[in-house]
Amino acid sequence: MNENGEQRICPRCGAPIDATKSKCPYCLTSYFDISCIDINDHEPFYLKLKRGGITFTALVCLDNISIGQSVSTRYAYSGRGYKLSSAVVSRDVDLSMELHSVPDVGRGVLFTLENEKD
Ligand SMILES: [Zn+2]
Repeated sequence: MNENGEQRICPRCGAPIDATKSKCPYCLTSYFDISCIDINDHEPFYLKLKRGGITFTALVCLDNISIGQSVSTRYAYSGRGYKLSSAVVSRDVDLSMELHSVPDVGRGVLFTLENEKD
């Protein structure tokens, strides 16, 4: 439930969110996708990323964000070179975020790296 008493649901399949899990048990969408960062507020926030057993944690500020769309199209031509038809072969949305880490005075660090294998 959110602060308005509404049931939170998976944005992909609509199943109720199970707060004890990190991803939707039905469509495997990561619940991290549902996180909301208020980008109008330039207050630093904690960011935790995990890849290949390494977890990176830092206090960061958002500098810039951009969202762009690209479409790739293929055309079919007649033997005389007239364009007969077109087809969209792919659509992508590119999301780019620029962040910078700020000193975490409370913890006395700039960032931490943790290795699961340690
Ligand atoms: Zn789902």
